[in-house]
Order: sequence, then structure tokens, then C-alpha cells
Amino acid sequence: MSESTTPVKAPHLFTLSDYQSGIARWCPGCGDHGVLAAIQRICTEEQLPPHKTVFVSGIGCSSRFPHYMKTYGFHGLHGRAMPVACGVKARRPELQVFVSSGDGDFFSIGAGHWIHGVRYNMDMTLTIFDNGIYGLTKAQTSPTSPLGLKTKTHPHGAILPPMNPIQATLGMTNLSFLAQTVDWKPQHLKATLQAAYKHKGLGIVRVMQRCTAYTADLHDEWRRNPEKVLLMKHDKGVPVDPKIDKAFKNQVEHDPTDINKARELGDRTDVLPIGLFYVNPDAPRYDQMTNAGLEMSNEDKAKGLNAALDKFAVR
Ligand code: SF4
Repeated sequence: MSESTTPVKAPHLFTLSDYQSGIARWCPGCGDHGVLAAIQRICTEEQLPPHKTVFVSGIGCSSRFPHYMKTYGFHGLHGRAMPVACGVKARRPELQVFVSSGDGDFFSIGAGHWIHGVRYNMDMTLTIFDNGIYGLTKAQTSPTSPLGLKTKTHPHGAILPPMNPIQATLGMTNLSFLAQTVDWKPQHLKATLQAAYKHKGLGIVRVMQRCTAYTADLHDEWRRNPEKVLLMKHDKGVPVDPKIDKAFKNQVEHDPTDINKARELGDRTDVLPIGLFYVNPDAPRYDQMTNAGLEMSNEDKAKGLNAALDKFAVR
């Protein structure tokens, strides 16, 4: 008997171009370009099927993210990225969900969803691009604008101290992963986002992001003086590339399961801590706890619904 000559189909390999869509319309030098490049590389390395990947955003410069990914996307309403993303993950748990938001979008109008998104802890990757300003609407004070920053809404300088989103997030119930990185160190940026992606639960990464148009010198202190950056290292933390190890000599060994130490580090204003503040792989996940019935047929769903409605029937 002759051997079968049916060719064996090689598994499809996704390349970088499978995730690239259009030319990003961010300003030259904007930190968003670096985050986009990092996420496209992560998608390629992890071989995420584009048709099973969704990017959800709110409104702002960084919220243009879904337009530049050749995946599914939802460019939604101001501050509402989290509820949309939670809805997608709740009903389609097999999809990889990424959320992009900015400091104005997330920490201000989206603050309510921030708290409950953390508590729901659904398996998604959340990137918060923090440039300390509303860039898309041309320079209004955001919750993280530094004191004294001159903006369209505060021409004489921002009058309130900026909020500390790390400290705030570390105070929220059911937090499962919180890290911080900078857009100008691509190895650390990618490693941090990839660790958040691999985490099972809500992986939150705050990226200190350059806005060359309105807050160009906001990060100068950290960019010009690496001693002002504190690299958090640990076996359970973000993997550290040798280049990063060399670039940031100011380091601390930090076990990210220690919430009290994470809070101490999150309070530091003399340095910018980068790496993983906190992780709790055992935090309950709402998407897991509410997935009963997802496999039911439409008929069974209709039967269940009718049985529930019958309880209220007046006989
Ligand atoms: Fe980037 Fe700022 Fe330009 Fe927006 S305004 S695209 S944040 S540099």
C-alpha cells in the first residue's frame, strides 16, 4: 500500500505585520509609539490570533490604540473602557482583551470604573498611559498634572497636588497585579507589559509616557538622571534585561506579594519606582465566577429564562 501523499498543513505563524494597522497619527516622539511597538511585538511572540484578540479604549490620544492594531477593537466613550472590556470578557472568555486608557480618561471620568474594574479582576491587560495632561483636547489639567503646570484650564498653573494613582490602586479591594514602567526604556516597557499579559487576572501597567506636545519636560528628571529611578527586582517580579540592570543602578529587592512594602514604595516621591509593585495570583476573578451557562444552547437559555419569568406569573 502506498503512503498517503496528502500534505500536512504547517500551523500558521503570525508575524508582526499581522498586527499592524495603518500609520499611527500620534505626534513625532510621542511615547504612545513605543507602547504600540511593544504590544505588537508581544502579540507576535505570544502568537495571539488577531481574530481572537480585542483592544478596547476610551477617549484620548492613547485611546486611538485599537485603530493601529489589526485585531478587533472598540474605541468607546470617555472613561468607559473598563465596563466595555468587562462585558466582552464576561461573554467571550476565550478572547484576549487589552484595554488602553490615559490619565485623563481613566483617573478622572473613568475613576468609578477603575475601582470596580480592579475589584472584578477579570483576565485582561490594562495599560494606562500617563502623560500628566489631556493631550487630545490640547492641554487641560489632568488628575496627574504636577502642581504649577500651566494648562488651558489653569493658565497660572495647576492649583492642586497631583494624585498618586499607584498609591490609590494599592488601596483598592481585590487588586491582583500592578506594575509601573517608562516608555523610553523599550526592554523594561515590553517586559512589564508581557508580565501583565501573562498574569491571570487584571494586569495593570502604568506607563510614564512622554507627551512631546504639552508636557515635554515632565519626565526629564528621571530620563536625565537614572539614579532617580528605582528598579524593583525580584524572582516573582518583572524579568530584568541586562541592559536595564546596567542602566538603573539604584535598585531594591522587592517581593511583590508584600502589600505593605508595595505601599511604602508607592508612596516614594524622591524616586520613580519601576517594576512590579504587587501581585496576588489568588485574587478571585469575576469572569471565572460568573461563567456558568456560557456553553448552554440558545434553547436551554430560553427554557431557563422562561422558568425564571414563570415565578413572577400571576395565576
Ligand atoms: Fe502624544 Fe501628546 Fe501628541 Fe497626544 S498630544 S499624540 S499624547 S505627543
